[in-house]
Amino acid sequence: MRACLLAAILVGCSSTPGAIDARPRIDAGLDAALDAAPPARATEDLPDDAPGAYQIHVLYVVPADRTPAAPLDTDGSIRRSVAAFDAWFAAQTGGPRLRFDTAGGVLDVTYVKLDPPYAERALAEGTVGAPAGPDYLRDRLEALLAPRFAEPHKMYLVYWDGLSFRHCGGAPLPPLLHGHMPSLQVGGLFASSFLTADAGAGATQLAVYSLANLPLGAAPFDATLGSEAVRVIAVGADTLTLAAPLAAAHPAGEPLQAATTIPDCRANAFSPDGHTLAYWEFSGAHEILHTLGIAPPEAADYAPPPVAPGHLAATGPDGTADLMYQGTANWGCLEFPPATAPATSACRLDSGHRNYFAVTGRTVSVDLAASVFLEPTPAGAVAPLGW
Ligand SMILES: [Zn+2]
Repeated sequence: MRACLLAAILVGCSSTPGAIDARPRIDAGLDAALDAAPPARATEDLPDDAPGAYQIHVLYVVPADRTPAAPLDTDGSIRRSVAAFDAWFAAQTGGPRLRFDTAGGVLDVTYVKLDPPYAERALAEGTVGAPAGPDYLRDRLEALLAPRFAEPHKMYLVYWDGLSFRHCGGAPLPPLLHGHMPSLQVGGLFASSFLTADAGAGATQLAVYSLANLPLGAAPFDATLGSEAVRVIAVGADTLTLAAPLAAAHPAGEPLQAATTIPDCRANAFSPDGHTLAYWEFSGAHEILHTLGIAPPEAADYAPPPVAPGHLAATGPDGTADLMYQGTANWGCLEFPPATAPATSACRLDSGHRNYFAVTGRTVSVDLAASVFLEPTPAGAVAPLGW
């Protein structure tokens, strides 16, 4: 999972004493609302249960040229997933939750269909391994969505149901990479590139996006171009040579995916019941915490480069099972089979209080226990840097 890109978190946060409407939530947890029939699709942010409070609003964003077979807003997937990690979070903190934007006690999910000309492939095009900048998908999504979703007290958790290359998620990391929109990229592909020019039937040479940025591995290898099976026998900087002529024409933008054992992001299931905790649940919590500035560089177990900034190494008591771990070992939060309830999950939220939650014995620039995004709002609550 890709996160946050630039380093160095400055010390000091803006505090917002007395500025927060600390009204309690309507119910104890989002899972309490799951038994009701799912609400109809909403295309606007509905009236808030906690107006003016710092809160996380969920967006379900679909590119103009894609109609999902199973829309994640109306089929309940997003609500179940958020309810599951909301309950896990409360179990880890001993009570406090992240404050999500609810309407009538139900998680408020806004459906956004991106307008042309931001078609799916055009938007994903240029999404590279580079950590930041105008070509990075999460940054581009935020630039497109921010004019419409710009309430200063809201973080917007984006479920992007379009293409993405090399990443299933991303987040800003304040203060150097400021943003309000962590993203979960449901349509992420690995070992993939895409055509940069139309390829006619009979072609054996393909023009593809930079293979330095989207590496496919050494030839020869089997791959799929759209729905056509191909065999690649030579790889250039931005060209591929096929063993046999294409049977059909393929338009620029068509994804080409090498045979790989790395599953697509979409192969990860959403929580089926609002309790089971797997990839998207822990990814959602992980990317939200990045957006708050976690893990701060003063964390005892802060992971040095080449791990991306904002992560923990496995040196703490939670090892690889901390929510913010990233490294070469498997992430301990992902269990097979997945935990079916918070009480049985191996995943931990800084249980040793050494890094980012209720930290003792050291000074950290960001402590989740003091976040304005917690419900109930802590005394002396602190907003993320730059908010
Ligand atoms: Zn991360």
